[in-house]
Amino acid sequence: MTYEEILKLCNDYGIKPRKEQGQNFLLDEAVPQQMVEAAGLNANSTVLEIGPGFGMLTKYLIQSGAKVVAIEQDRDLLPFLNKLVKQHANFTVHNVDVREAKLEEMGLHDRKYALVANLPYSVTSWILHQFLEYQPRAAKMVVMVQKEVAERVVAEPGEMSVLSVAAQALSEAEIVCTVPPESFYPVPQVDSAVLKLVTREIPLTQDMPALMRLVRIGFASRRKQLHNNLQAGLQLTTRESKCVLEDIGLSEFARPQDLSVLDWEALRKALKV
Ligand code: SAM
Repeated sequence: MTYEEILKLCNDYGIKPRKEQGQNFLLDEAVPQQMVEAAGLNANSTVLEIGPGFGMLTKYLIQSGAKVVAIEQDRDLLPFLNKLVKQHANFTVHNVDVREAKLEEMGLHDRKYALVANLPYSVTSWILHQFLEYQPRAAKMVVMVQKEVAERVVAEPGEMSVLSVAAQALSEAEIVCTVPPESFYPVPQVDSAVLKLVTREIPLTQDMPALMRLVRIGFASRRKQLHNNLQAGLQLTTRESKCVLEDIGLSEFARPQDLSVLDWEALRKALKV
């Protein structure tokens, strides 16, 4: 879609792109095509799109033959989207905030659908958390997010964060491509990236809530060595906190960002938390 075409659509439908709704519409046609390819969609797939906007990604999702369920919060976009519904039997749209959506009632069942979307950045963390952890989970996600978020999700030991541990415990993550600000209207202030997450059938932990409680304690102060944070958060002695790290094969000087998901899980088991 050209800059002039998107301006005309905004004008015709009375849309003034709203920052708080993350309304940065895609212009670059190559990106949605890459997203559909990365999602591996076909006529047997079901796909959820959050925030179809003016349908830049939607039209490629529809072309794949998949059953496409869209959730769009902005009522003013419905006249445009309802035209697409009339033209395509495999497309439906629900005018609701995704945080209020009744997914099962929309035919979305646990690990039986893909989530493919150019996400509104204000709700990205909520969406990643929700669709990876809570039923009905997406089987995979191919989502446009801020580049910085994508890089944190796929980080390796040495650069890990609470977000990378959570995302990697529940999925296998990779960056599909990066997307510059000029690929959108209006132009956002940040670079973007397409992130692919394949949900693990069995998470890398036996107790996700307990693992995340421990990880938050471990990251309470990023600059401190991990044993200091464990002492403070779990009321351990210096000796106890250093020993438990050595028992699972880690250095007593390790910092929280140095641990992989499997290290955190080993630590959780060793601490019996
Ligand atoms: N898919 C379109 C594209 O790629 O050009 C638009 C993407 S734009 C980044 C985000 C879209 O999400 C907008 O259409 C916006 O109205 C919608 N949106 C924002 N917050 C939402 C929410 N909480 N629930 C559902 N849709 C939302």
